[in-house]
Amino acid sequence: MSEVITIDGPTSSGKSSVGHLFSANIGFQFIDTGAIYRAGSLFILENNLSTADENVCAKVFENLNVEFKEIDGSQRIFLDGKDITEKLHLPQVTKVVPIIAAFPKVRELSKKIQRKIGSLQNTVMTGRDIGTEIFPDSKLKIFLTASPEIRAKRRYEQLKQKDLDISYEKVLEEMLKRDEADSIREASPFRKPDDAVEIDTTNLTTKQTVEKMLELFKARGLS
Ligand code: C5P
Repeated sequence: MSEVITIDGPTSSGKSSVGHLFSANIGFQFIDTGAIYRAGSLFILENNLSTADENVCAKVFENLNVEFKEIDGSQRIFLDGKDITEKLHLPQVTKVVPIIAAFPKVRELSKKIQRKIGSLQNTVMTGRDIGTEIFPDSKLKIFLTASPEIRAKRRYEQLKQKDLDISYEKVLEEMLKRDEADSIREASPFRKPDDAVEIDTTNLTTKQTVEKMLELFKARGLS
């Protein structure tokens, strides 16, 4: 049976960079479930479908053909065979994801996708409900946090690199709104799993965070 290590945490807590490096160190595949919700949301926007209609959105997730591929040391996301990685963090996608991700039917369908992916091979999976809903029996659950200011700074710097015209204040404001929307939704709200180990990355580099996780991985007898 495959092992799934879960990493949950709010926006820009370091889940993707830490999760990807950690997975490479232990030889597990890396799956960022945010990319699944983003890929479905992108499809809905690009096909001018209604983001307000649960059944329409559910149909998209029912047929979602998303693939994760490691290319030259970084992860690329494909939708229907096309590389959509660069589009996933466009502001218009980020804006609608929490709305679409809150639909119970969409969550049920992406739960199926995520469980299937994790059942096929050893996986490090990041998201908002991985330790609570998707793999509640995981032997190692991590909860990453960081102060809102440092998280907004990280996201702001990523967006700036992509030449997106946005201010730090706007990033902070939108990030707090998104975290709140994810936490108050009825269908599997974002929360820390009771049995997760919390790591505050405010004053840690990616490498330092991964080192802590490797220690936990060994201590749990998973290596
Ligand atoms: O992690 P990322 O910022 O890419 O996630 C985008 C959005 O997808 C989150 O704000 C949340 O609304 C949704 N999401 C979720 N459950 C997950 C992963 C992401 O609801 N497991």
